Amino acid sequence: MSRIFNFSAGPSMLPESVLEKAASEMLNYKDSGMSVMEMSHRSKVYDKIIKETEQKLRDVMSIPDNYKVLFLQGGATLQFSMIPMNLMVKNGKADYIVSGSFSGNAYKEAQKYGEVNLAGTSKEDNFSHIPTQEELTLTEDADYLHICENNTIFGTTYNYLPETGGVPIVSDMSSCILSKPVDVSKYGMIYAGAQKNMGPAGLTVVIIREDLIGEPQDKTPVMLRYDIMAKNDSMYNTPPTYAIYILGLVLDWVESMGGVEGMLEHNEKKAAILYDYLDSSKLFKTNVVKENRSIMNVTFYTGNEELDAKFVKETAAKGFSNLKGHRSVGGMRASIYNAMPIEGVQALVDFMREFEKENA
Ligand code: PMP
Repeated sequence: MSRIFNFSAGPSMLPESVLEKAASEMLNYKDSGMSVMEMSHRSKVYDKIIKETEQKLRDVMSIPDNYKVLFLQGGATLQFSMIPMNLMVKNGKADYIVSGSFSGNAYKEAQKYGEVNLAGTSKEDNFSHIPTQEELTLTEDADYLHICENNTIFGTTYNYLPETGGVPIVSDMSSCILSKPVDVSKYGMIYAGAQKNMGPAGLTVVIIREDLIGEPQDKTPVMLRYDIMAKNDSMYNTPPTYAIYILGLVLDWVESMGGVEGMLEHNEKKAAILYDYLDSSKLFKTNVVKENRSIMNVTFYTGNEELDAKFVKETAAKGFSNLKGHRSVGGMRASIYNAMPIEGVQALVDFMREFEKENA
């Protein structure tokens, strides 16, 4: 069977050239006589891999020198706990914007560790928009404001960065990191599970301003302390070695695509193909407001559950996978992360047109 267009929300497609390169180095990485998977994380050859990967990430994202890059485990979900444990320490309070499912989980988890203020939510309109600055109630002395920059399940994204008056912003970029240029200096911390735009599952990347790394709350487990992880260059214990190596290959690919600026252009082109069609279609629609449409996760539906199911079934037979919407919202979702080629989106829209004609 040939490779298919995989619209999974994550783990998701990786660039084919990355997989080929990894395959070619699988048995014997650069004359080391072993696979990267088999190497000691403390070996010279692996040390070069992790250091070069960090440097590539710094270069691609233009990360300022006063930010630490950490390679952790536990997924983005573990950050929902680590963030309050480590950062809710000065005034013991934090603001959270709930713009979807994952930010809701983060908000709930944080309540175990301090005073948490719901700074804004779009729950009442089923998360079809991102709360605007005017809709926010911010706390002046919050230790941080947590946001989820791209909502994977609902297909929404921020088109502005909240004005906080100096309160550091902590952003979950799991489903948008490396998809566009970001000014890292505007954030206190950025984090992402790797399994969408960065590489395989098992690696979580944290980019944190150094002055925010301090003594965590009492009894914070050693593995969950940013200070320990930073002091040990993510090597307090065995890091997810192979996933870090793949991230390095993905970053080479991003560079070859023109860096994050090139990625944005590529992603906007893909998203436009899909949204332009959705706007003109009489069968398919999206309920996401125009100014918050995600270029990574595109959600749509017909309004008829049976027809949605038929569509998903037929796309699977055509060689497109994972187009079913998240179980909590139904409908369809096309995740078109960095590695999804334009041809994949074009082929999907061609099929949607055909389906519309037959089912009008
Ligand atoms: N945040 C966002 C925006 C996500 O899309 C996801 C899931 N893919 C998570 C958090 C949870 O990530 P993980 O499965 O790595 O814990």
